[in-house]
Amino acid sequence: MMVQPASILQSVFGYTSFRHNQEAIIDHLLSGKDAVVLMPTGGGKSLCYQVPALCLEGVTIVVSPLIALMKDQVDALLLSGVKAAFLNSTQHPSEREAILQQLRNNELKLLYVAPERLVGSEINLLQFLKEQASPALFAIDEAHCISQWGHDFRPEYRILHELKIQFPSVPVIALTATADGLTKRDIIDQLQLKDYRVFENSFNRPNITYYVKPKRNYYDELVDYLEQHKEDSGIIYCLSRNATEKLAEDLKADGFNAEAYHAGLDKTTRDQRQDLFLKDDINIMVATIAFGMGINKSNVRYVIHADLPKNIEGYYQETGRAGRDGLPSEAILFYGPGDVMKLKNFAQIDNNPEQTKILLDKLDKMVAFCETKQCRRKYLLNYFGEQAPDYCGTCDTCIHKPELSDQTIVAQKIMSAVARVNERFGLGYIVDLLRGSNSEKIRPEHKELKVYGIGKDKPRDEWMHYTRELLSSGYLQMSDNQYPVLQLTEKSKGVLFQGEKVFLHAPIQITTTTKEPVVYQQLPYEKELFEQLKKLRNTIAHEENVPAYLIFSDSSLIDLATYLPFTTEDLSKISGFGVYKIEKYGEAFLTQVQDYCNEHGLDTRIELKQPKRERKSKLPRERETDTKKISLDLYQKGMSIEEVAIQRTLSISTIETHLSYYISSGKLDITNFVSPNKQELIQAAIAKYGKASLRLLKENLPETISYGDIRFTMAATEINA
Ligand code: ADP
Ligand code: ZN
Repeated sequence: MMVQPASILQSVFGYTSFRHNQEAIIDHLLSGKDAVVLMPTGGGKSLCYQVPALCLEGVTIVVSPLIALMKDQVDALLLSGVKAAFLNSTQHPSEREAILQQLRNNELKLLYVAPERLVGSEINLLQFLKEQASPALFAIDEAHCISQWGHDFRPEYRILHELKIQFPSVPVIALTATADGLTKRDIIDQLQLKDYRVFENSFNRPNITYYVKPKRNYYDELVDYLEQHKEDSGIIYCLSRNATEKLAEDLKADGFNAEAYHAGLDKTTRDQRQDLFLKDDINIMVATIAFGMGINKSNVRYVIHADLPKNIEGYYQETGRAGRDGLPSEAILFYGPGDVMKLKNFAQIDNNPEQTKILLDKLDKMVAFCETKQCRRKYLLNYFGEQAPDYCGTCDTCIHKPELSDQTIVAQKIMSAVARVNERFGLGYIVDLLRGSNSEKIRPEHKELKVYGIGKDKPRDEWMHYTRELLSSGYLQMSDNQYPVLQLTEKSKGVLFQGEKVFLHAPIQITTTTKEPVVYQQLPYEKELFEQLKKLRNTIAHEENVPAYLIFSDSSLIDLATYLPFTTEDLSKISGFGVYKIEKYGEAFLTQVQDYCNEHGLDTRIELKQPKRERKSKLPRERETDTKKISLDLYQKGMSIEEVAIQRTLSISTIETHLSYYISSGKLDITNFVSPNKQELIQAAIAKYGKASLRLLKENLPETISYGDIRFTMAATEINA
C-alpha cells in the first residue's frame, strides 16, 4: 500500500496539517493527473511535489532555473533524511556519474535539474531516464519562466514540451508564484497538459505589512529603521549596480553589517556574500533584482525598495521574500517621481512599440500603487485578479485610516442638500452650497435654501471627503450620465427619515514625519529562551556548515519557546520536528528548553498545542519522564556513555549534554570525566575564544580532546560562575 501523504507530512517534515490546498493537489497528482499550481511565495509549493515524491515509487525530477535554489532545497531535504541530489554545471563529471549511478539503482527520491540539462550535450537526461530509471513525477518550479507573457521568460524552459511527448503517463506539476491569465494559459499549452487541474490560492501574504514612503531625503529614515532592526535579516533593492555599492558603503560607514550584491560582481564574491547572508553573518543585502530568485531563507524580516520597481509582478515577488516563515514582516518602498522618469526611459524598447507599451503600462500600474489612498493589499490582490476587502489593517493606508466615528449630522446635512436641489447637481456644487459659497455658479434660488451655508464650520476638503465616504458606503450614489449628479439611495432614506446613525472615517491626515506603529504581533513566547534556542541552532548550523534556517525555521523555535515541550513525544507536536530531525537534534533542543524551565520554574504548555476537544485536564507533571534523569540513572548504574547512548538510541553527544547538566548542578564530579590536565587546556581555550562555538574550541585544541571533554568542562565552569 502507498504511504499516506499525511504521515509523510508528519514524520518527514514535522508538520501537523496541510496548508491552503496542498492536500488536494497531492491527491490529484497521486491519482496520476497533472496540476498547475499558483501559490504565493512562502505558500508552501515545495511540499506539493516533495510529499508525493516520497509516496511514489521511483524518482521525482524537479526542474528549477537556479543553482542556488537547487542546492538550498537539496540541503533542506538531506537534513530531513530524504535522499535528494541535483545535477548542474558546477559539478565534476565524476560527481555527475555518481548521481546517475544512484538513479540506476533507484536510490534517489528527488533529483533537481536545470532545464538545459534535460537534453544537455554531455548527458541527455530524458533519454537516460527513459532507458535506465523510472521517473515518478515531473515538477516544474517557477513555471512562468516558460512563457513570453511572464516577466521572466527563459528560452531553455521551452524544452519542457518534450516531457509529455516522451513520458505521457508520468504526471506533471507546474508551480509558480506569479502568473496572470495569459501566462497561465501559456504554461498549460507549452507543457501540453491534457488531463490537468489548475489550483489557485489566494495570493495574499497576511504576515507582510506594506508601506510606501516619500523618497525625498530617505536615507535618515532608512537608517532609523535599520537601527531598530539591527538583529534582523533584510534585503534592500536598488535599481542599479552602482546604487547598491554606494548604499552598502554608506550603511557600512554607519556601522551596519551590509554588503552589495549584483550581477557585475564575480561569481566567487556573489556566492560568498549570498552564503554569508543565508547564514546570518551578513544582516543586510543591498542588491539589484539579480539577488533573491530562489533564495529560500525563511527569516527575512524586511524587504526595502530604495528605488521604484518596474512592475507589480517584480515588486510582489521581491517583497514576497520577506516572512516565508509566517512571522510578521515588512515591505517598505521609497517612492519618488525621479524614478518614474528613469524607468520610463528604460521601458523604451527600440523598434518594438508593442513591447514598449506593455512595459509602460506595467509601470503605470506600479505608480498607481504608490499613489493610491486605498488599501495597498487590496490593490495588489486586485492586480492579480483576486477580490479583497477594502480594509486589511496591515498596510500604511489602513494603519493611517482613522477609526469610524458618528457622523450622522454631517451625513444629514449632505443628504438634505442633495434632496433640496432635486438630485440634479454634482459633488462640487453640493459642497459649495453647504459652505455658503458666494460664487456665481450657485443659483440664486439655492442661496435661499436652509442648507445654504450650514457647512461653514468645516473646510471644503472635509466636506468633499465625507461626501465621498457616503458614496463609497452606499448612502449616496452617482448617476452615470455625462454630467454625473449625486442621488439619494434607499440607505439615505433611513438616515433622513428614520434617525439611523451613520459612521464614517475621518479624513486621513497626511503627514510624513509621523512614525508608523510597528505592528508586531505579541506572541506569548519566552523571549529569552527563543534567543538561547537561536544560539543553539547557530552552533549546530556552523558545525554542519549549512544555513541556520535549514536546521529549523524561526517559527519552529518560537513554537518551542511557546509550548515548552519536555519529552520526545511532545516534540513531535512542534512544527518542523520530523522523525529524522527529532532523532538528530531533538535532545539538544529539549535539554535547552528543560533547563530554561527548571531555572524559571515553568511547566510545559504542550497541552495548549492540542485541539480544544482533545485537551486533557492539566495534571501536575511527573518529572521522571525527564530524559536527562533517565540518562543519569543508567550512567549511575555503571553504564558507559556509549552504552547509555546505545540503550537509549540517542547520540553520544546527547547523553553528554544530559550528564553535563548534572555536572553544572554539582551532582556529578567533572574529574570522573575529564583529566585535570585536559581541563586546564580547555579552560585556557575558553578564556581565549569564549563559549559560543564548540567547533571553534575543538579546532583550537589538541586532537585528543573530544567534544565531550569540552562540553563537560564548560558545564563545570558554570558551577563555579
Ligand atoms: P514557496 O516555494 O511556495 O515559496 P516553500 O515551499 O518554501 O514556499 O514553503 C515556505 C515555508 O512554509 C517553508 O518553511 C515550509 O517548510 C513551510 N511549510 C510549507 N507547508 C507547510 C505546512 N503544511 N505546515 C507548516 N509549514 C509549512
Ligand atoms: Zn490595507
